[in-house]
Amino acid sequence: MALKGLDIFKLSPKKNCKECGSPTCMAFSMKVAQGSVSIDACPYFSEDAKATLNEATAPPMKTIKVGTGDKEMALGGETVLFRHEKTFVSRTRYAVSLCNCMDDAAVEAKLAGIPKVDYERIGERMYVEMIYVNYSPEGSVEKYLDLVKKAAALDRVLILGCTDPEVAKQALELVKDSKPVLNGANASNYEAMNTVAKDAGVALGVQGADINELYDTVAALEKLGNKNLLIDAGTNSIKDAFATTVQFRRAAIKDGNRTCGYPSIVRADRLAHGNAHLQAALLSLFTMKYGSIVVVDEMTYAEALPLYGLRQNLFTDPQKPMKVEPGIYPLNGADKDSICVTTVDFALTYFVVSGELERSGVPCNLIINDAGGLSVLTSWAAGKFSANTIAKFFEEQDIAGKVNSRKLVIPGKVAVLKGELEAKLPGWEIIIAPNEAVQLVKFMKDLQA
Ligand code: SF4
Repeated sequence: MALKGLDIFKLSPKKNCKECGSPTCMAFSMKVAQGSVSIDACPYFSEDAKATLNEATAPPMKTIKVGTGDKEMALGGETVLFRHEKTFVSRTRYAVSLCNCMDDAAVEAKLAGIPKVDYERIGERMYVEMIYVNYSPEGSVEKYLDLVKKAAALDRVLILGCTDPEVAKQALELVKDSKPVLNGANASNYEAMNTVAKDAGVALGVQGADINELYDTVAALEKLGNKNLLIDAGTNSIKDAFATTVQFRRAAIKDGNRTCGYPSIVRADRLAHGNAHLQAALLSLFTMKYGSIVVVDEMTYAEALPLYGLRQNLFTDPQKPMKVEPGIYPLNGADKDSICVTTVDFALTYFVVSGELERSGVPCNLIINDAGGLSVLTSWAAGKFSANTIAKFFEEQDIAGKVNSRKLVIPGKVAVLKGELEAKLPGWEIIIAPNEAVQLVKFMKDLQA
């Protein structure tokens, strides 16, 4: 819950020494309450007071870190229910499930399929980041441990789905250094699972027969001092899983109930077992409301392309334009003599235009202007992509010194700039591109012919 300035002032040293840069402790306390300065700017707050304030001002939802090195990822830590209120911070991660109850051929097929989806979109790598390795008493422990080793070899963050503390302990001995998630604490085993997870230093997933039992088990684990938790939304029904993710998130963020403030795991592979289309729909649903990890049977390009695009749109800050670095991007083996194409630094424009130019196979230098991360027409209307700004950018970046070609293709939507650009960039031939990026392939080929 947000603290008021007076609450902070009551805990302040009341020296009025000004060392923090504020004239009085009261003024400092008001600034802390507004979030404009950190409590650490005052050297005289007692450790107890700091602990009290940090607890009171901590975000309503915990950030849980899993994985290590370049595979480390943050889950949770959200502060709003809706993206437009501020921004979402930790994107949903997707996992493919394996089980020791599967036959060897099915396991091998899944392991071979996981690395197949791997591509980049607007600077973000899109791939299956996690593998859920489920332990079923129907399969053997040896097979499970073998499966854990095989999954670990794919260098993804693992989720060990296991409710047997002894088996979980053995599995964690193999992979605990990679900081997997152990998912399997429930009302009957939580004390033993808590010990196993804490000893291995990993996050613990909590399950419940229903939402009330889930809440009580999370509270019991908190009493044991474990706040490195995730909540499993359950497999009773899609309706119950959805209610659990939404109610926990609302209780955490709207009501400040910290026992509900943990990231979630959604088992779409169980909720829609054997139904790939329904699982694809659940992936979208729980990316929006509020799955931190969603587990599916498999991930193909057909599911991944729209899904990862949706995720990227949701988990970017709406207040910050998505930009690429202005400069020269040589495409298709372009050299200094290759024709120049220019456009704006809006990431989606760059992504679409560079994709079509690459498809044309024609060597060209794509010159990205600094247009404030806006699209072509928006930046033109805002005066950030005009003959003046383009000419200024060419001068600042010494484009004429870096390329020999004097042919410059400009977007069809700003054809109106042609005359002015020819005046501002003497010696350059200004060529108007088609209006739509998809027409660039033929256009570039014709230009080269
Ligand atoms: S440094 Fe601390 S004690 Fe001094 S005025 Fe600021 S808040 Fe008060």
